[in-house]
Amino acid sequence: MLDLVQLKELLASPKKIVITTHHKPDGDAMGSSLGLYNYLIQLGHHTTVITPTDYPDFLAWLPGNEEVIIYAEQLEKSAELIAAADIIFCLDFNALSRINEMGVLVGDSSAYKIMIDHHLEPADFDDYRHWDINACAAAQLVYDFIVNQLHRPDLINKDVATCLYTGIMTDSASFRLPNTSSTVHRIVADLIDAGAVNYRIHELVYNSASENRLRFLGHCLANCLEVLPEYNTAIIAVNNTDLKNFDVNTGDTEGVVNYALSMSSIKLAAFIVERSDRVKLSLRSKGEFPANEICKKYFDGGGHRNAAGGHSEGTLEQVVEKFKSILPEYKKLLKQ
Ligand code: 5GP
Ligand code: MN
Repeated sequence: MLDLVQLKELLASPKKIVITTHHKPDGDAMGSSLGLYNYLIQLGHHTTVITPTDYPDFLAWLPGNEEVIIYAEQLEKSAELIAAADIIFCLDFNALSRINEMGVLVGDSSAYKIMIDHHLEPADFDDYRHWDINACAAAQLVYDFIVNQLHRPDLINKDVATCLYTGIMTDSASFRLPNTSSTVHRIVADLIDAGAVNYRIHELVYNSASENRLRFLGHCLANCLEVLPEYNTAIIAVNNTDLKNFDVNTGDTEGVVNYALSMSSIKLAAFIVERSDRVKLSLRSKGEFPANEICKKYFDGGGHRNAAGGHSEGTLEQVVEKFKSILPEYKKLLKQ
C-alpha cells in the first residue's frame, strides 16, 4: 500500500503512467480519464489512456481523445504499455472484471495501482485509493485528488476543466441526481472559471444525435415500451434486428432508458438490449429504490442505487421474463 506522501513522491519525477477505465466508457469514464491525463502530461509524465473497448462518438471531441488507445483494437501496444507502466490509474471502476481481458494484464503488472472511483464495494487490487460513493462522478474525485490531495489547483487548465466538467455533467444527469451537492456546484463553478465552456459542452454531448439515433428513439418509445403499472416499472426491450435496421452505433442507446423513467408513476425503468455477444441491461430508478441490488443479485452486474447495469445469457425474451419474475420481490418498494 502507498500513503499520500509516498504517492506524491512517486509523482514528483516523470513516470510511465497508464490510465484506464471501464468497459464501454461513458462520459464520466472518459471525462475523468482525460481530465487526469491532461493534468499529468503537464508534469512531464509519459501518460497513455487505454480503454478496454470503444466509446460513443459524442465524446470524441474531448481534449486528448486523439491519443487514446483502445485495447480491443491495439492488443500488443496496450499490453506493452501496461507491462512497462510504473503507475496505473483505474478510474470509474473498482473491480478488474470491469476492464475485460485487460484486467489480467493490469492485475499481473508490477505497477502501483491507484483507484479513483465512486462505485460500491471496491475489490482489493489497488495500492492507493481515492474512493467515495457519495461523489456524483469519478471526475469529481479526480478534481478533489488534484486540488485537495496533490494541491495543484494551478494545473486545472482549460483541457482538464473541460474533461472534468463533462464527467460531472454526464454522471449527474446534468446536475439533476440527488448526489449533485452544493460542493459539486462549487467544483463546477471552479471548472467554468478554469476555462470549461459549459454551454458548449452541453451542446457537444447532448445535441450531437444522428437522424438514425432519433428515429431509433422513436421506435423504442412507440414500439418497444412496456409499462407494468402494478410494479410502477417500465421496460424497453430492443432486439438485434432493430439495432441493425436503425444502424445503431455505440452510444446511440445511451439515455434511452431515461425516457421510460420520465413517466411520473414509474419508479424503475429497464432498457434491455440484445447485443451480439449477450443481452445487456441498464436499470434506472427513482429515490431509494436499489437498481444496483437487482443487477448484482440477478444480472452479474452492479452500479449505483439509481443507475446500474448488468448482463445475462439467454434470449432477449428470456431475459425480459427473468426481469419481470424478479419484480414481485420488490413490489412493496416499488408501490411505496
Ligand atoms: P449503464 O446502464 O449506463 O451501462 O450503467 C449504469 C451504471 O452501472 C454505471 O455506473 C456502470 O458503471 C454500472 N454498470 C453497468 N454495467 C455494469 C456491469 O456489468 N457490472 C457492474 N459492476 N457495473 C455495471
Ligand atoms: Mn462514474
